[in-house]
Amino acid sequence: MVKLICAIIFISAFTFCKCQNASKEKQIKMDSTLKLTNEEWQKRLLPEQYDVLRNKGTEKPYSSELNNEYSKGVYVCAGCGAELFNSDQKFESHCGWPSFDNEIGKGTNIEKKPDFSYGMIRTEIICSKCGGHLGHIFDDGPTVTGKRYCVNGLSLKFIKTP
Ligand SMILES: [Zn+2]
Repeated sequence: MVKLICAIIFISAFTFCKCQNASKEKQIKMDSTLKLTNEEWQKRLLPEQYDVLRNKGTEKPYSSELNNEYSKGVYVCAGCGAELFNSDQKFESHCGWPSFDNEIGKGTNIEKKPDFSYGMIRTEIICSKCGGHLGHIFDDGPTVTGKRYCVNGLSLKFIKTP
């Protein structure tokens, strides 16, 4: 009988531990995304950044300083700081927006979603971490990847390699 009670205590302790671990894992996963209210985003971003990142706006072509940025460095999300592109992936597309032929990571940093707005069929690109709108991706890139990530400069922050 004592043995049985011991066994029960052992099993429940084990199950309890497992549950705690599971909730810890969930916590870590949740921390890798950033969810803020519209008000919090408004405080965190400039109005023009908010319009692009949170309202899927598009900045005026050729308006971004990043169009002419060709220094070595990393382009991160202006909303949450997630690393999205590196300078080696940038190319001059002459389309008026900063363009890249690939992204950092294995496709998990940037979410792709069909976009049927304005009577066009396009693929929207979104920061996986904060859900911020970045721009669109097209299959007409001139480099080996064949991809053109057309990105609003306002949704990016450039961190120059020192
Ligand atoms: Zn982000």
